[in-house]
Amino acid sequence: MRQDRRQVLTILAFGLALIAMPIASSPAAEPKLPQLILQITVDQLRGDLLARYYDRLGDGGFRYLLDAGTVYSNAHHRHANTETIVGHTTLATGADPSIHGMVGNVWLDRVSGELTYNVEDARYPVLGEGAGVDKKTEIDPTQKTARSDGRSPSRILVSTFSDELTLAQGGKSKVFGVSVKDRGAISMAGHTGKAFWFSKKSGEFITSSFYYDQYPEWVADWNAGKPADNYAGTSWNLLHDQSTYLFGKADDRPYETALPGYGRTFPHPFGSREGKYFTTLLTISPAGDELTLDFAKALIQNESLGRDDKPDYLSVSFSSTDYVGHLFGPSSLESEDNILHLDRTLAELLSFVDAQVGLDKTLIVLSSDHGGPEAPGYLRELGFEADYIDPKTWDKAGAIEKLKKRFGIGEELIATYFHPYVYLNRQVIAEKGLDQAEVEDAVVDELNRFDGVALAVSSSALNSGKVPDTPLVQSILRNYNRNRSGDIYVVFQPNRFINDFGGITVAATHGSPWRYDTYVPIIFAGIGIPAQRINRMVHTVDIAPTLSLIIGAKPPTGSFGAPLNEVIR
Ligand SMILES: [Zn+2]
Repeated sequence: MRQDRRQVLTILAFGLALIAMPIASSPAAEPKLPQLILQITVDQLRGDLLARYYDRLGDGGFRYLLDAGTVYSNAHHRHANTETIVGHTTLATGADPSIHGMVGNVWLDRVSGELTYNVEDARYPVLGEGAGVDKKTEIDPTQKTARSDGRSPSRILVSTFSDELTLAQGGKSKVFGVSVKDRGAISMAGHTGKAFWFSKKSGEFITSSFYYDQYPEWVADWNAGKPADNYAGTSWNLLHDQSTYLFGKADDRPYETALPGYGRTFPHPFGSREGKYFTTLLTISPAGDELTLDFAKALIQNESLGRDDKPDYLSVSFSSTDYVGHLFGPSSLESEDNILHLDRTLAELLSFVDAQVGLDKTLIVLSSDHGGPEAPGYLRELGFEADYIDPKTWDKAGAIEKLKKRFGIGEELIATYFHPYVYLNRQVIAEKGLDQAEVEDAVVDELNRFDGVALAVSSSALNSGKVPDTPLVQSILRNYNRNRSGDIYVVFQPNRFINDFGGITVAATHGSPWRYDTYVPIIFAGIGIPAQRINRMVHTVDIAPTLSLIIGAKPPTGSFGAPLNEVIR
Protein backbone atom coordinates (compact mmCIF):
# COMPACT_ATOMS: atom_id res chain seq x y z
CA MET A 1 0.00 0.00 0.00
CA ARG A 2 2.80 2.33 0.84
CA GLN A 3 4.44 1.43 -2.35
CA ASP A 4 1.20 2.16 -4.18
CA ARG A 5 1.13 5.59 -2.64
CA ARG A 6 4.72 6.20 -3.67
CA GLN A 7 3.89 5.17 -7.18
CA VAL A 8 0.96 7.54 -7.22
CA LEU A 9 3.15 10.37 -5.94
CA THR A 10 5.77 9.64 -8.58
CA ILE A 11 3.18 9.67 -11.30
CA LEU A 12 1.74 12.91 -9.94
CA ALA A 13 5.16 14.51 -9.74
CA PHE A 14 5.96 13.42 -13.28
CA GLY A 15 2.67 14.83 -14.46
CA LEU A 16 3.30 18.15 -12.73
CA ALA A 17 6.76 18.28 -14.24
CA LEU A 18 5.25 17.77 -17.67
CA ILE A 19 2.79 20.59 -17.10
CA ALA A 20 5.54 22.87 -15.84
CA MET A 21 7.76 22.15 -18.87
CA PRO A 22 7.77 25.00 -21.34
CA ILE A 23 5.82 24.25 -24.51
CA ALA A 24 8.39 23.52 -27.12
CA SER A 25 7.09 25.69 -29.92
CA SER A 26 7.70 29.33 -30.84
CA PRO A 27 4.95 31.63 -32.14
CA ALA A 28 4.04 30.83 -35.78
CA ALA A 29 6.67 32.48 -37.94
CA GLU A 30 5.25 35.08 -40.33
CA PRO A 31 5.53 33.55 -43.79
CA LYS A 32 8.00 35.35 -46.01
CA LEU A 33 6.32 37.81 -48.36
CA PRO A 34 6.72 37.27 -52.08
CA GLN A 35 9.12 39.71 -53.71
CA LEU A 36 6.96 39.83 -56.79
CA ILE A 37 3.26 39.22 -57.35
CA LEU A 38 2.73 38.32 -60.99
CA GLN A 39 -0.92 38.44 -62.01
CA ILE A 40 -1.45 36.95 -65.45
CA THR A 41 -4.75 37.34 -67.25
CA VAL A 42 -5.47 35.60 -70.53
CA ASP A 43 -8.29 37.39 -72.31
CA GLN A 44 -11.10 34.93 -73.20
CA LEU A 45 -9.42 31.80 -71.80
CA ARG A 46 -12.43 29.60 -71.12
CA GLY A 47 -12.05 27.27 -68.13
CA ASP A 48 -11.89 24.04 -70.14
CA LEU A 49 -9.31 24.98 -72.76
CA LEU A 50 -6.08 24.25 -70.86
CA ALA A 51 -7.25 20.74 -69.98
CA ARG A 52 -8.23 20.17 -73.61
CA TYR A 53 -4.70 20.94 -74.81
CA TYR A 54 -2.80 19.64 -71.76
CA ASP A 55 -1.07 16.86 -73.72
CA ARG A 56 0.21 19.36 -76.27
CA LEU A 57 1.65 21.87 -73.78
CA GLY A 58 5.41 22.20 -73.42
CA ASP A 59 7.46 22.54 -70.24
CA GLY A 60 7.56 25.65 -68.10
CA GLY A 61 4.39 27.40 -69.32
CA PHE A 62 0.80 26.43 -68.57
CA ARG A 63 1.98 22.93 -67.67
CA TYR A 64 4.18 24.31 -64.86
CA LEU A 65 1.18 26.18 -63.44
CA LEU A 66 -1.15 23.17 -63.81
CA ASP A 67 1.34 20.69 -62.31
CA ALA A 68 2.98 22.75 -59.58
CA GLY A 69 0.16 25.11 -58.67
CA THR A 70 -3.19 25.13 -56.93
CA VAL A 71 -5.70 24.76 -59.73
CA TYR A 72 -9.32 25.84 -59.20
CA SER A 73 -11.08 23.87 -61.89
CA ASN A 74 -14.57 25.20 -61.17
CA ALA A 75 -14.15 28.97 -61.15
CA HIS A 76 -16.64 31.48 -62.51
CA HIS A 77 -17.32 35.13 -62.89
CA ARG A 78 -20.57 35.75 -61.07
CA HIS A 79 -21.75 38.86 -62.95
CA ALA A 80 -23.92 38.87 -66.08
CA ASN A 81 -22.02 41.09 -68.52
CA THR A 82 -18.92 38.99 -69.20
CA GLU A 83 -16.90 41.62 -71.07
CA THR A 84 -13.23 42.60 -70.87
CA ILE A 85 -13.27 45.63 -68.57
CA VAL A 86 -15.94 44.10 -66.37
CA GLY A 87 -13.93 40.90 -65.85
CA HIS A 88 -10.54 42.59 -65.48
CA THR A 89 -11.84 45.05 -62.91
CA THR A 90 -13.50 42.19 -61.00
CA LEU A 91 -10.18 40.32 -60.94
CA ALA A 92 -8.39 43.50 -59.84
CA THR A 93 -10.83 44.62 -57.14
CA GLY A 94 -12.56 41.45 -55.89
CA ALA A 95 -15.77 43.45 -56.26
CA ASP A 96 -18.83 42.89 -58.39
CA PRO A 97 -19.46 45.42 -61.19
CA SER A 98 -22.40 46.83 -59.22
CA ILE A 99 -19.75 48.02 -56.76
CA HIS A 100 -16.62 48.63 -58.89
CA GLY A 101 -18.73 50.45 -61.45
CA MET A 102 -17.35 49.00 -64.68
CA VAL A 103 -20.70 47.56 -65.80
CA GLY A 104 -19.72 47.23 -69.44
CA ASN A 105 -17.01 48.09 -71.93
CA VAL A 106 -19.33 50.94 -72.89
CA TRP A 107 -22.22 52.63 -71.12
CA LEU A 108 -24.39 55.67 -71.70
CA ASP A 109 -23.32 58.63 -69.63
CA ARG A 110 -26.58 60.14 -68.41
CA VAL A 111 -25.09 63.62 -67.96
CA SER A 112 -23.54 64.03 -71.42
CA GLY A 113 -26.02 61.71 -73.13
CA GLU A 114 -23.07 60.08 -74.93
CA LEU A 115 -21.74 56.53 -74.95
CA THR A 116 -18.67 56.34 -72.75
CA TYR A 117 -15.67 54.05 -73.11
CA ASN A 118 -14.69 52.57 -69.75
CA VAL A 119 -11.16 53.93 -69.25
CA GLU A 120 -11.40 57.11 -71.28
CA ASP A 121 -10.60 60.33 -69.45
CA ALA A 122 -10.09 63.48 -71.53
CA ARG A 123 -8.08 65.06 -68.71
CA TYR A 124 -5.17 62.69 -69.29
CA PRO A 125 -4.17 62.46 -72.98
CA VAL A 126 -1.93 59.64 -74.12
CA LEU A 127 1.71 60.63 -74.30
CA GLY A 128 3.28 61.08 -77.71
CA GLU A 129 2.20 62.09 -81.17
CA GLY A 130 -0.11 59.77 -83.10
CA ALA A 131 -0.36 57.24 -80.31
CA GLY A 132 -4.08 57.21 -79.65
CA VAL A 133 -6.89 55.32 -81.35
CA ASP A 134 -7.20 55.47 -85.13
CA LYS A 135 -10.94 55.29 -85.69
CA LYS A 136 -10.46 54.55 -89.39
CA THR A 137 -8.70 51.26 -88.69
CA GLU A 138 -9.86 50.35 -85.17
CA ILE A 139 -11.88 47.12 -85.34
CA ASP A 140 -12.68 46.94 -81.61
CA PRO A 141 -16.20 48.43 -81.56
CA THR A 142 -15.94 49.49 -77.92
CA GLN A 143 -12.65 51.35 -78.47
CA LYS A 144 -14.33 53.29 -81.25
CA THR A 145 -16.84 54.82 -78.87
CA ALA A 146 -14.10 56.72 -77.00
CA ARG A 147 -14.35 60.41 -77.78
CA SER A 148 -10.92 61.37 -76.50
CA ASP A 149 -7.43 59.90 -76.47
CA GLY A 150 -7.22 60.37 -72.70
CA ARG A 151 -7.02 57.33 -70.43
CA SER A 152 -7.12 56.78 -66.67
CA PRO A 153 -8.59 54.41 -64.06
CA SER A 154 -10.76 57.19 -62.60
CA ARG A 155 -14.05 55.41 -63.31
CA ILE A 156 -13.09 52.42 -61.15
CA LEU A 157 -14.98 53.26 -57.97
CA VAL A 158 -13.06 51.12 -55.46
CA SER A 159 -9.49 50.07 -54.69
CA THR A 160 -7.72 47.25 -56.48
CA PHE A 161 -5.47 44.66 -54.84
CA SER A 162 -2.55 46.52 -56.41
CA ASP A 163 -3.74 49.71 -54.65
CA GLU A 164 -3.91 47.87 -51.33
CA LEU A 165 -0.34 46.64 -51.86
CA THR A 166 0.76 50.24 -52.43
CA LEU A 167 -1.03 51.34 -49.26
CA ALA A 168 0.27 48.43 -47.18
CA GLN A 169 3.85 49.14 -48.17
CA GLY A 170 3.66 52.90 -47.73
CA GLY A 171 4.14 53.48 -51.44
CA LYS A 172 7.39 51.50 -51.53
CA SER A 173 6.07 48.73 -53.79
CA LYS A 174 6.34 49.11 -57.55
CA VAL A 175 3.03 48.45 -59.31
CA PHE A 176 2.60 47.99 -63.07
CA GLY A 177 0.03 46.76 -65.57
CA VAL A 178 0.82 45.77 -69.16
CA SER A 179 -1.48 44.62 -71.96
CA VAL A 180 -2.20 45.05 -75.64
CA LYS A 181 -5.56 46.48 -74.54
CA ASP A 182 -5.64 49.76 -72.62
CA ARG A 183 -8.44 48.45 -70.41
CA GLY A 184 -6.48 45.24 -69.72
CA ALA A 185 -3.56 47.26 -68.33
CA ILE A 186 -5.26 50.23 -66.65
CA SER A 187 -7.77 48.18 -64.63
CA MET A 188 -5.11 45.95 -63.06
CA ALA A 189 -2.62 48.74 -62.28
CA GLY A 190 -5.38 50.41 -60.26
CA HIS A 191 -5.28 54.00 -59.08
CA THR A 192 -1.74 53.90 -57.73
CA GLY A 193 0.16 51.82 -60.30
CA LYS A 194 1.41 52.59 -63.79
CA ALA A 195 -0.04 51.17 -66.99
CA PHE A 196 1.29 50.58 -70.50
CA TRP A 197 -0.65 49.30 -73.49
CA PHE A 198 -0.20 48.77 -77.21
CA SER A 199 -1.18 51.45 -79.69
CA LYS A 200 -2.33 49.95 -82.96
CA LYS A 201 -1.90 53.42 -84.42
CA SER A 202 1.82 53.73 -83.65
CA GLY A 203 2.81 50.11 -83.04
CA GLU A 204 4.30 51.18 -79.70
CA PHE A 205 3.54 50.60 -76.02
CA ILE A 206 2.07 53.83 -74.70
CA THR A 207 0.76 55.42 -71.51
CA SER A 208 -1.14 58.58 -70.58
CA SER A 209 -0.39 61.75 -68.64
CA PHE A 210 -2.26 60.23 -65.70
CA TYR A 211 0.82 58.07 -65.16
CA TYR A 212 3.80 60.02 -66.50
CA ASP A 213 4.81 63.46 -67.75
CA GLN A 214 7.16 61.83 -70.23
CA TYR A 215 8.16 58.30 -71.17
CA PRO A 216 10.78 56.64 -68.97
CA GLU A 217 13.98 56.30 -70.98
CA TRP A 218 13.74 52.53 -71.21
CA VAL A 219 10.23 52.76 -72.72
CA ALA A 220 11.39 55.30 -75.30
CA ASP A 221 14.33 53.01 -76.11
CA TRP A 222 12.10 49.95 -76.42
CA ASN A 223 9.73 51.79 -78.75
CA ALA A 224 12.63 53.24 -80.77
CA GLY A 225 13.69 49.66 -81.55
CA LYS A 226 10.31 49.27 -83.35
CA PRO A 227 9.86 45.60 -82.40
CA ALA A 228 6.47 45.39 -84.14
CA ASP A 229 8.10 46.17 -87.48
CA ASN A 230 10.04 42.90 -87.30
CA TYR A 231 6.80 41.11 -88.18
CA ALA A 232 6.42 42.99 -91.48
CA GLY A 233 6.34 40.63 -94.43
CA THR A 234 6.03 37.58 -92.15
CA SER A 235 3.05 35.37 -91.33
CA TRP A 236 1.42 33.62 -88.42
CA ASN A 237 2.53 30.03 -88.99
CA LEU A 238 1.54 26.84 -87.21
CA LEU A 239 3.88 25.81 -84.41
CA HIS A 240 3.61 22.08 -85.24
CA ASP A 241 2.69 19.82 -88.14
CA GLN A 242 -0.95 20.51 -89.02
CA SER A 243 -1.92 16.83 -88.84
CA THR A 244 -1.07 16.76 -85.11
CA TYR A 245 -3.77 19.31 -84.17
CA LEU A 246 -7.23 18.49 -82.82
CA PHE A 247 -8.60 20.93 -85.41
CA GLY A 248 -5.96 20.09 -88.04
CA LYS A 249 -8.58 19.14 -90.60
CA ALA A 250 -10.84 22.11 -89.84
CA ASP A 251 -8.76 25.12 -90.87
CA ASP A 252 -11.15 26.46 -93.47
CA ARG A 253 -14.62 27.00 -92.06
CA PRO A 254 -17.26 29.26 -93.62
CA TYR A 255 -18.16 30.89 -90.28
CA GLU A 256 -14.60 32.09 -89.65
CA THR A 257 -13.85 35.74 -90.34
CA ALA A 258 -11.79 36.30 -93.49
CA LEU A 259 -10.13 39.69 -93.06
CA PRO A 260 -8.82 40.96 -96.41
CA GLY A 261 -5.32 39.58 -97.01
CA TYR A 262 -5.32 37.64 -93.72
CA GLY A 263 -7.77 34.92 -94.72
CA ARG A 264 -9.28 31.93 -92.99
CA THR A 265 -6.38 29.50 -93.42
CA PHE A 266 -2.74 29.19 -92.43
CA PRO A 267 -0.39 30.85 -93.01
CA HIS A 268 -1.96 34.20 -92.08
CA PRO A 269 0.21 36.95 -93.61
CA PHE A 270 0.68 40.23 -91.70
CA GLY A 271 1.53 42.12 -94.89
CA SER A 272 3.79 45.15 -95.12
CA ARG A 273 4.38 47.69 -92.36
CA GLU A 274 2.45 50.24 -94.40
CA GLY A 275 -0.62 47.99 -94.54
CA LYS A 276 -3.67 49.71 -93.04
CA TYR A 277 -4.36 46.80 -90.67
CA PHE A 278 -0.76 45.64 -90.08
CA THR A 279 -0.68 46.24 -86.30
CA THR A 280 -4.28 45.05 -85.93
CA LEU A 281 -3.36 41.72 -87.54
CA LEU A 282 -0.48 41.35 -85.07
CA THR A 283 -3.01 41.50 -82.22
CA ILE A 284 -5.13 38.78 -83.89
CA SER A 285 -2.17 36.40 -83.74
CA PRO A 286 0.41 35.16 -81.23
CA ALA A 287 2.53 38.20 -82.20
CA GLY A 288 0.44 40.48 -79.96
CA ASP A 289 1.31 38.36 -76.93
CA GLU A 290 4.96 38.08 -77.98
CA LEU A 291 5.24 41.88 -78.09
CA THR A 292 3.55 42.08 -74.69
CA LEU A 293 6.07 39.55 -73.33
CA ASP A 294 9.01 41.48 -74.75
CA PHE A 295 7.78 44.72 -73.22
CA ALA A 296 7.08 43.03 -69.87
CA LYS A 297 10.63 41.63 -69.78
CA ALA A 298 12.08 45.09 -70.44
CA LEU A 299 9.86 46.45 -67.65
CA ILE A 300 10.92 43.80 -65.10
CA GLN A 301 14.56 44.45 -65.86
CA ASN A 302 14.55 48.24 -66.07
CA GLU A 303 12.26 48.84 -63.12
CA SER A 304 14.15 46.20 -61.08
CA LEU A 305 10.94 44.41 -60.07
CA GLY A 306 11.13 41.88 -57.26
CA ARG A 307 14.68 42.71 -56.20
CA ASP A 308 14.06 43.52 -52.52
CA ASP A 309 11.81 42.42 -49.68
CA LYS A 310 9.11 44.96 -50.55
CA PRO A 311 6.69 43.03 -52.75
CA ASP A 312 6.25 44.48 -56.23
CA TYR A 313 3.28 43.82 -58.50
CA LEU A 314 3.15 43.19 -62.21
CA SER A 315 -0.01 42.43 -64.15
CA VAL A 316 0.39 41.03 -67.64
CA SER A 317 -2.82 40.65 -69.62
CA PHE A 318 -2.47 38.70 -72.86
CA SER A 319 -5.09 39.82 -75.40
CA SER A 320 -4.52 37.66 -78.50
CA THR A 321 -6.64 34.73 -77.30
CA ASP A 322 -9.64 37.06 -77.26
CA TYR A 323 -9.19 38.51 -80.74
CA VAL A 324 -8.47 35.06 -82.20
CA GLY A 325 -11.51 33.63 -80.40
CA HIS A 326 -13.74 36.35 -81.82
CA LEU A 327 -12.57 35.92 -85.40
CA PHE A 328 -12.27 32.14 -85.59
CA GLY A 329 -14.13 30.75 -82.54
CA PRO A 330 -12.52 28.88 -79.62
CA SER A 331 -12.74 25.53 -81.42
CA SER A 332 -10.68 26.40 -84.47
CA LEU A 333 -7.19 25.58 -85.67
CA GLU A 334 -6.29 29.23 -85.09
CA SER A 335 -7.38 29.19 -81.44
CA GLU A 336 -5.65 25.86 -80.83
CA ASP A 337 -2.38 27.06 -82.30
CA ASN A 338 -2.64 30.41 -80.54
CA ILE A 339 -2.85 28.68 -77.16
CA LEU A 340 0.18 26.55 -77.99
CA HIS A 341 2.09 29.72 -78.99
CA LEU A 342 0.91 31.49 -75.83
CA ASP A 343 2.15 28.49 -73.84
CA ARG A 344 5.65 29.17 -75.21
CA THR A 345 5.31 32.91 -74.54
CA LEU A 346 4.24 32.18 -70.97
CA ALA A 347 7.13 29.73 -70.49
CA GLU A 348 9.54 32.46 -71.58
CA LEU A 349 7.99 34.96 -69.18
CA LEU A 350 8.18 32.52 -66.26
CA SER A 351 11.75 31.51 -67.03
CA PHE A 352 12.72 35.19 -67.23
CA VAL A 353 11.05 35.88 -63.87
CA ASP A 354 12.80 32.82 -62.45
CA ALA A 355 16.18 34.16 -63.55
CA GLN A 356 15.52 37.75 -62.40
CA VAL A 357 13.57 37.16 -59.19
CA GLY A 358 13.15 33.41 -58.62
CA LEU A 359 9.82 31.63 -58.95
CA ASP A 360 10.23 30.58 -55.30
CA LYS A 361 10.07 34.27 -54.39
CA THR A 362 7.21 35.05 -56.77
CA LEU A 363 3.50 34.59 -56.24
CA ILE A 364 1.76 33.86 -59.53
CA VAL A 365 -1.97 34.00 -60.13
CA LEU A 366 -3.53 33.32 -63.51
CA SER A 367 -7.13 33.78 -64.56
CA SER A 368 -9.24 35.21 -67.34
CA ASP A 369 -11.61 38.14 -67.76
CA HIS A 370 -14.29 35.90 -69.33
CA GLY A 371 -14.82 32.68 -71.25
CA GLY A 372 -16.40 32.48 -74.67
CA PRO A 373 -19.08 30.77 -76.72
CA GLU A 374 -18.62 28.38 -79.61
CA ALA A 375 -19.25 29.73 -83.09
CA PRO A 376 -22.88 28.87 -84.00
CA GLY A 377 -21.70 27.44 -87.32
CA TYR A 378 -19.45 25.00 -85.48
CA LEU A 379 -22.28 24.04 -83.12
CA ARG A 380 -24.57 23.40 -86.08
CA GLU A 381 -21.95 21.06 -87.58
CA LEU A 382 -22.28 19.03 -84.37
CA GLY A 383 -26.07 19.04 -84.37
CA PHE A 384 -26.90 21.96 -82.07
CA GLU A 385 -29.37 24.62 -83.00
CA ALA A 386 -27.49 27.88 -82.80
CA ASP A 387 -27.51 31.17 -84.65
CA TYR A 388 -26.57 34.81 -84.53
CA ILE A 389 -28.89 37.62 -83.54
CA ASP A 390 -29.33 40.85 -85.41
CA PRO A 391 -31.56 43.27 -83.48
CA LYS A 392 -31.75 45.39 -86.63
CA THR A 393 -33.92 42.68 -88.16
CA TRP A 394 -36.35 42.56 -85.24
CA ASP A 395 -39.81 43.58 -86.37
CA LYS A 396 -40.37 46.39 -83.90
CA ALA A 397 -43.40 48.00 -85.55
CA GLY A 398 -45.99 46.09 -83.52
CA ALA A 399 -44.19 46.74 -80.25
CA ILE A 400 -43.79 50.44 -80.96
CA GLU A 401 -47.45 50.70 -81.93
CA LYS A 402 -48.47 49.12 -78.62
CA LEU A 403 -46.25 51.43 -76.58
CA LYS A 404 -47.61 54.41 -78.50
CA LYS A 405 -51.18 53.42 -77.77
CA ARG A 406 -50.47 53.07 -74.08
CA PHE A 407 -48.10 56.00 -73.43
CA GLY A 408 -48.73 58.37 -76.32
CA ILE A 409 -45.16 57.95 -77.61
CA GLY A 410 -43.36 54.98 -79.14
CA GLU A 411 -39.86 54.99 -80.59
CA GLU A 412 -38.84 58.12 -78.67
CA LEU A 413 -39.05 56.11 -75.45
CA ILE A 414 -35.79 54.36 -76.34
CA ALA A 415 -32.64 56.49 -76.09
CA THR A 416 -30.20 53.80 -77.20
CA TYR A 417 -29.49 50.08 -77.11
CA PHE A 418 -25.88 49.10 -76.55
CA HIS A 419 -26.03 45.43 -75.63
CA PRO A 420 -26.75 44.29 -72.95
CA TYR A 421 -28.44 47.51 -71.83
CA VAL A 422 -31.43 49.34 -73.27
CA TYR A 423 -31.46 52.98 -72.17
CA LEU A 424 -34.81 54.73 -72.05
CA ASN A 425 -35.26 58.39 -72.76
CA ARG A 426 -35.81 59.48 -69.16
CA GLN A 427 -36.31 63.11 -70.13
CA VAL A 428 -39.19 62.34 -72.50
CA ILE A 429 -40.72 59.97 -69.94
CA ALA A 430 -40.57 62.69 -67.26
CA GLU A 431 -41.89 65.39 -69.59
CA LYS A 432 -44.89 63.26 -70.46
CA GLY A 433 -45.52 62.66 -66.77
CA LEU A 434 -45.17 58.91 -67.24
CA ASP A 435 -44.09 56.49 -64.57
CA GLN A 436 -40.54 55.29 -65.32
CA ALA A 437 -41.07 51.83 -63.79
CA GLU A 438 -44.30 51.32 -65.71
CA VAL A 439 -42.64 52.23 -69.02
CA GLU A 440 -39.70 49.92 -68.24
CA ASP A 441 -42.06 47.02 -67.53
CA ALA A 442 -43.95 47.63 -70.78
CA VAL A 443 -40.73 47.71 -72.84
CA VAL A 444 -39.54 44.54 -71.05
CA ASP A 445 -42.76 42.79 -72.08
CA GLU A 446 -42.16 43.71 -75.73
CA LEU A 447 -38.44 42.78 -75.64
CA ASN A 448 -39.24 39.38 -74.20
CA ARG A 449 -41.20 38.62 -77.38
CA PHE A 450 -38.27 39.23 -79.75
CA ASP A 451 -36.40 36.43 -81.43
CA GLY A 452 -33.48 35.14 -79.37
CA VAL A 453 -34.28 37.04 -76.16
CA ALA A 454 -34.15 34.74 -73.13
CA LEU A 455 -34.85 37.35 -70.52
CA ALA A 456 -35.19 41.10 -70.16
CA VAL A 457 -35.11 42.62 -66.67
CA SER A 458 -35.87 46.23 -65.78
CA SER A 459 -33.67 48.22 -63.45
CA SER A 460 -36.63 49.48 -61.46
CA ALA A 461 -37.59 45.86 -60.79
CA LEU A 462 -34.00 45.20 -59.63
CA ASN A 463 -34.10 48.35 -57.51
CA SER A 464 -37.32 47.47 -55.79
CA GLY A 465 -36.33 43.84 -55.26
CA LYS A 466 -39.35 42.70 -57.29
CA VAL A 467 -37.39 40.03 -59.13
CA PRO A 468 -37.26 36.25 -58.74
CA ASP A 469 -34.23 34.96 -56.86
CA THR A 470 -32.74 32.95 -59.73
CA PRO A 471 -29.04 32.58 -60.60
CA LEU A 472 -29.55 34.53 -63.82
CA VAL A 473 -31.28 37.46 -62.14
CA GLN A 474 -28.69 37.44 -59.35
CA SER A 475 -25.93 37.82 -61.94
CA ILE A 476 -27.79 40.77 -63.51
CA LEU A 477 -28.21 42.33 -60.07
CA ARG A 478 -24.45 42.05 -59.46
CA ASN A 479 -24.01 43.97 -62.69
CA TYR A 480 -26.45 46.71 -61.70
CA ASN A 481 -24.96 50.05 -60.80
CA ARG A 482 -27.55 52.77 -60.29
CA ASN A 483 -25.61 55.53 -62.04
CA ARG A 484 -24.27 53.58 -65.00
CA SER A 485 -26.47 50.61 -65.83
CA GLY A 486 -29.13 50.98 -68.47
CA ASP A 487 -32.83 50.72 -67.72
CA ILE A 488 -33.28 47.20 -69.09
CA TYR A 489 -30.85 44.30 -69.15
CA VAL A 490 -31.24 41.91 -72.11
CA VAL A 491 -30.05 38.28 -72.00
CA PHE A 492 -30.05 36.26 -75.22
CA GLN A 493 -30.81 32.54 -75.46
CA PRO A 494 -27.77 30.26 -75.02
CA ASN A 495 -25.59 29.98 -78.13
CA ARG A 496 -27.15 33.09 -79.62
CA PHE A 497 -25.42 36.46 -79.80
CA ILE A 498 -24.74 39.50 -81.95
CA ASN A 499 -21.78 38.94 -84.28
CA ASP A 500 -21.50 42.43 -85.71
CA PHE A 501 -18.15 43.65 -84.41
CA GLY A 502 -18.36 47.28 -85.49
CA GLY A 503 -19.12 46.39 -89.10
CA ILE A 504 -17.02 43.22 -89.21
CA THR A 505 -18.90 39.93 -89.01
CA VAL A 506 -17.13 37.79 -86.42
CA ALA A 507 -17.48 34.12 -85.51
CA ALA A 508 -18.18 34.46 -81.79
CA THR A 509 -19.01 37.11 -79.18
CA HIS A 510 -18.91 36.58 -75.40
CA GLY A 511 -20.75 38.74 -72.89
CA SER A 512 -23.55 36.50 -71.64
CA PRO A 513 -24.23 35.15 -68.13
CA TRP A 514 -24.25 31.59 -69.52
CA ARG A 515 -21.65 29.23 -68.11
CA TYR A 516 -19.46 29.12 -71.23
CA ASP A 517 -18.88 32.87 -70.80
CA THR A 518 -18.44 32.85 -67.00
CA TYR A 519 -16.16 29.79 -66.77
CA VAL A 520 -12.46 30.65 -66.34
CA PRO A 521 -9.34 29.09 -64.81
CA ILE A 522 -7.94 30.30 -61.49
CA ILE A 523 -4.43 29.03 -60.77
CA PHE A 524 -2.06 30.08 -58.01
CA ALA A 525 1.60 29.02 -58.15
CA GLY A 526 5.03 29.93 -56.84
CA ILE A 527 6.05 30.83 -53.27
CA GLY A 528 4.35 28.60 -50.69
CA ILE A 529 1.63 27.37 -53.04
CA PRO A 530 1.00 23.60 -52.91
CA ALA A 531 0.26 21.45 -55.96
CA GLN A 532 -3.44 20.55 -55.71
CA ARG A 533 -6.65 20.55 -57.64
CA ILE A 534 -9.74 22.13 -56.07
CA ASN A 535 -13.12 21.29 -57.53
CA ARG A 536 -15.44 23.30 -55.31
CA MET A 537 -17.02 26.29 -56.99
CA VAL A 538 -15.12 29.53 -56.46
CA HIS A 539 -15.50 32.97 -58.01
CA THR A 540 -13.23 35.55 -59.55
CA VAL A 541 -14.14 38.01 -56.77
CA ASP A 542 -12.27 35.67 -54.40
CA ILE A 543 -8.85 36.37 -55.93
CA ALA A 544 -8.16 39.94 -54.79
CA PRO A 545 -9.06 39.39 -51.10
CA THR A 546 -6.93 36.23 -51.19
CA LEU A 547 -3.91 38.21 -52.41
CA SER A 548 -4.52 40.81 -49.70
CA LEU A 549 -4.58 38.13 -46.98
CA ILE A 550 -1.39 36.53 -48.29
CA ILE A 551 0.58 39.78 -48.07
CA GLY A 552 -1.14 41.02 -44.93
CA ALA A 553 -2.82 44.00 -46.56
CA LYS A 554 -6.40 45.00 -45.91
CA PRO A 555 -8.93 43.73 -48.46
CA PRO A 556 -9.79 45.99 -51.41
CA THR A 557 -12.68 48.36 -50.65
CA GLY A 558 -15.46 46.46 -52.40
CA SER A 559 -14.09 42.92 -52.27
CA PHE A 560 -16.88 40.84 -50.85
CA GLY A 561 -15.53 37.57 -52.23
CA ALA A 562 -14.39 34.75 -49.95
CA PRO A 563 -10.61 34.33 -49.63
CA LEU A 564 -9.35 31.02 -51.01
CA ASN A 565 -8.13 29.14 -47.95
CA GLU A 566 -6.26 26.47 -49.92
CA VAL A 567 -3.57 28.97 -50.95
CA ILE A 568 -3.26 30.95 -47.70
CA ARG A 569 -0.63 29.63 -45.28
ZN1 LIG B 1 -13.58 39.94 -76.34
